[in-house]
Amino acid sequence: MTPPLLLVEDLRVALPAPRSAAAPSRGASGGNAREVVRGVSFRIPERGFHALAGESGCGKSVTAMAIARLPPADAPGRVSGTVLFRGENLLALSPRRLRSFRREGGLACVFQDPMDALHPALTVATQLREAVPESVPRAGRDAFVRSILADVGLGESADAVMRSHPCELSGGMAQRVCIAMALAQKPALLVADEPTTALDVLVQRKVLRTLKDAASTRGAAVLLITHNLAIVGEYAETMSVLYAGRVVEDGPVREVLRTPAHPYVEALLRALPRLDSTRGVEDLAVIPGRVPPPENWGADGCTFAPRCPRAADVCRAGREPGLMPFGGADPVPGAPCRTAGRGPEAAAGTAPVRRVACFRSRVAER
Ligand code: SF4
Repeated sequence: MTPPLLLVEDLRVALPAPRSAAAPSRGASGGNAREVVRGVSFRIPERGFHALAGESGCGKSVTAMAIARLPPADAPGRVSGTVLFRGENLLALSPRRLRSFRREGGLACVFQDPMDALHPALTVATQLREAVPESVPRAGRDAFVRSILADVGLGESADAVMRSHPCELSGGMAQRVCIAMALAQKPALLVADEPTTALDVLVQRKVLRTLKDAASTRGAAVLLITHNLAIVGEYAETMSVLYAGRVVEDGPVREVLRTPAHPYVEALLRALPRLDSTRGVEDLAVIPGRVPPPENWGADGCTFAPRCPRAADVCRAGREPGLMPFGGADPVPGAPCRTAGRGPEAAAGTAPVRRVACFRSRVAER
């Protein structure tokens, strides 16, 4: 059995509640904290490409920050669960080991806005050289940096880019520089949090293709955070869809997007613009309402029920539906995820298992 590069199990993050919403949290956090990530689990193999998808406010970025050990500076949260990176629990690293883990470049991040990520007063060359690990000999650092700039599509203009300050670059070039800086650290995992949201739609596609190809060339796995299922379908291999801080469906991208099992995933897909549509924006379905605030998550039955066209009485009472293997499992409200009985590969955890958290989809399937 090949162990995964990253194994996230029952990850929970509790942040202090705002004064106006200081309801006590259920779960591990306690006190006046409220859980904004609630038991998230997924795995990424070496060189894999996994996407975390969902609307804004569902906990995608907080999940990524918790994995990268980057808690928000103004609201330090409590994190529990397990984040195994090549067998080492990142949540249990001492500050000293965390510094060396970062120096070794196990994990690197690409953030949403490249202009926020780059230092405005330093040239690109200075910033790229600082990202290169000490294992690269000093004499070979410029050549190493140029090779990475070539990987991200800036090889022909490498000299001009390296002399530039960030304000002299276009948004797409600046994000490519950020991807190059992340790859310069020789990471095994690249965490990309909505890396194209701040870019023109025409540039988005090129930057994502660059990110996927460059990560593949350098042997890095990718964890992509995005609200856009079209992007997931084009670039990712496996995916998890988050709603209200929980995974509501996950599995291989092809399976999930071709036959979505959870009504939330169905609704997200219906809301995607289609090039073959003849009716323009009138064809676009809208998900009614909005993601409820965290203090209301899990209060009564399924948190998606107020927005769900398939909601029934069973959905609104008792505990939230638990994440269960899709196919053959008992639809027991609140039951934990189970992978036993799904074949040797699934039981061993080496094959991505399709799972869904919805009473009705599991009942309808049987
Ligand atoms: S459990 Fe019920 S309300 Fe929740 S997603 Fe499924 S059908 Fe909709």
